[in-house]
Amino acid sequence: MRSKTVSLKYSGFLLKRALPILVLTGCIGLGVLGLLIWAGQEADRVSYNRQASLAQLVVSQQRSKVAHNQESVTVWDDAVEQVRARDSEWMDNNLGAWMHEYFGLDQAYVLDPSNQAVYAFADGGQRAPDAFSVVEDEALPLVLALRDKLRVGDDSQVSDTVLTPGVSDLAVIQGRPAVVSVKPIVSDTGDIQQTPGEESVHVAVRFLDGSLIEELKTDYLFEDLHFSWSASDAPHYSSLPFYAADGSVLGYMVWHPHHPGETMLSKLIPVLSAFIVLALCAIAFSLFLYHNRSKELQASEEQIRYMALHDPLTELPNRNYFNEYVDVELTKGGASALLFLDLDRFKQVNDTLGHPSGDALIREFGQRLKAIVRQGDVVARVGGDEFTVMLRGKVSVGEVDGICQRIVDSVRRPFVLGGQEVFVGVSVGVALAPRDGNDRVSLLRRADVALYFSKNSGRSRYTFFSENMDQLLSRRQEMEGDMRAALKAGNEFQVHYQPIIDARDHRVKGYEALLRWEHPKFGSISPELFIPVAEETGLIDAVGAFVLREACTAAAEWSGKSVAVNVSGIELRDEGYAAKVKNILLSTGLSPQALELEVTETAATDEASAVVANLDALRAIGVQIAIDDFGTGFSSLGRLRTLNVDRIKIDRSFVRGFGEKAGDEAIIRAIVELAHASGLKTTAEGVETSFQDAGLIRIGCDSLQGFLYSKPVPLRDIELTRFTDSSPG
Ligand code: C2E
Ligand code: CA
Ligand code: CA
Repeated sequence: MRSKTVSLKYSGFLLKRALPILVLTGCIGLGVLGLLIWAGQEADRVSYNRQASLAQLVVSQQRSKVAHNQESVTVWDDAVEQVRARDSEWMDNNLGAWMHEYFGLDQAYVLDPSNQAVYAFADGGQRAPDAFSVVEDEALPLVLALRDKLRVGDDSQVSDTVLTPGVSDLAVIQGRPAVVSVKPIVSDTGDIQQTPGEESVHVAVRFLDGSLIEELKTDYLFEDLHFSWSASDAPHYSSLPFYAADGSVLGYMVWHPHHPGETMLSKLIPVLSAFIVLALCAIAFSLFLYHNRSKELQASEEQIRYMALHDPLTELPNRNYFNEYVDVELTKGGASALLFLDLDRFKQVNDTLGHPSGDALIREFGQRLKAIVRQGDVVARVGGDEFTVMLRGKVSVGEVDGICQRIVDSVRRPFVLGGQEVFVGVSVGVALAPRDGNDRVSLLRRADVALYFSKNSGRSRYTFFSENMDQLLSRRQEMEGDMRAALKAGNEFQVHYQPIIDARDHRVKGYEALLRWEHPKFGSISPELFIPVAEETGLIDAVGAFVLREACTAAAEWSGKSVAVNVSGIELRDEGYAAKVKNILLSTGLSPQALELEVTETAATDEASAVVANLDALRAIGVQIAIDDFGTGFSSLGRLRTLNVDRIKIDRSFVRGFGEKAGDEAIIRAIVELAHASGLKTTAEGVETSFQDAGLIRIGCDSLQGFLYSKPVPLRDIELTRFTDSSPG
């Protein structure tokens, strides 16, 4: 679940933050790359265009250059005369070989006015004039065109630098591309007159694929320049067509153009790509760091907030959380219940079994509580063994009642601590909103008051707050004075007796003495209310002594029946307690074997030397000791064996659930079995139904006590309670 949310969060982060940034960076990188490629191609294109126009220029210059070079010999009186004289040596020196050496002409011919060749130069030397036939097809049309020009006097070409008209073209000569230029041989001084069109002409041929190529290569840095009859389709080569005057393509100049852009790109792209990849990595890495960092921050914030609102031991909400929650819920209105809970005698678990066991108990208790409440209810740990619960929504009193009962019952299931089964109880106080208040503070105070009453009326129970609780509490001070007065007056306190039945034959085997107080103003007050006050004020010694004397006096009259008297732990801590008991036994004449003292579990396990000494001394003379209310406080079955007692009285809360809750029967059975194994007798308290009676007998309880047999009654009525019958009810 957690890893799923984490991966969801992670992919959310990837989609929302990392991806756009990385894509943007990638796009910028690609954009820059694209721009560079475009700029490189543009640079290559410009460079190609420059070279192409240069090549074109060079070729067309070549044409005028050949013509210009021709004029250095064709506009010359000597030439006119020597050609007329057919002086072939002169012609060779000046019009052929010299032109070849000086201007690089490849071929030169001289034609007379009837277009007969009179001189020929080709392949580096003078040739017979009929060698002209090699170029005749290409050259003759140019000669005719020139003669036409001369005839009509077309001197449109003539300028400061061009002295005579001429005709030139590109042509294929002997299978090679060439410039062919034709110029008339005329007088430079004007002294020799000739009929226009009837002049001798000079035909010059310069191959384009020969020395010219070399010149272009070296002068203009054309790489791998060559002539080709067709356009090159080799990659990275450019072709430039040459056109003849008639528009036909003569051939192509092919070369490997400069690629400054490509050169730059070939160097730049790897660097730039590496840079982009590095940048992407760096960004991804810092995003990753940032994400982790913010995740950590978020996690620690959550952690801090969690810690501020939760109890580390149980992981339940703490007081702050509870308060916030309750405040919010109460402002919404509606009915709800606040429960204040306190584990009974938790301190003793801690002291006896150690803190780890105490912690385990608290944790387990928290779990049980949570299992009982509904969703939306909140369970909080607000102190060592104090918990609060808010039951939310429209909860009827019946519903709250049911939940409280379940809470109290859940705790009666033993806790296994360090391999030992341990019984504790929980006391609960309940305040209802809006009945008992509308704000958290007053509701919690009232739940706390109700809790006090649960504690004082025997623990292991729940109590709903009522208005008279506040009144009773405020009367505690008065109660002390009233109790002193009652002890003096002697008629307000009365001891009642409740029979204890022998499970084997249903006969009364003894009675438990229970104190009653008839207050002159308030009427009868429960011992559960006034005994704690007596304990707190130190009056318990006098109260205890009163009951003991009364009970022993009464029991001395009963033949063979014992009397059980409740003793407070406070009394047992008095070093002289055993002596006091002996005194009373002596003065009343009751046999010690007929007296059973009921002590709380706390008292029975008290390691204070006075308590131990008192119990030892009393048992030594034969007084029986019973643990009262077993199972409500801290009860460890494992330790029963070691206790200084003769009997345990199983608390009535277990008996009440008998037959209703399977667990209770099992618990009683376990207690009885263990008690018997430890040589202890058992009494079941609070038997109210014959079903319980039958079950408890089946389980093997030794004695039974409860309203089924009789309520506690005044001494004068005990004869009426005696059972001789084997079917009670
Ligand atoms: P306890 O020692 O557990 O006494 C038994 C209580 O259970 C009595 O309440 C009795 O009336 C009640 N009881 C008996 N049978 C049944 C039954 O079938 N169903 C129900 N629901 N209850 C039954 P009581 O008399 O109100 O006494 C309450 C507690 O006050 C006693 O509990 C005992 O702890 C304390 N107490 C009473 N008298 C004295 C006394 O003289 N000295 C001291 N230290 N404590 C006393
Ligand atoms: Ca008792
Ligand atoms: Ca009891």
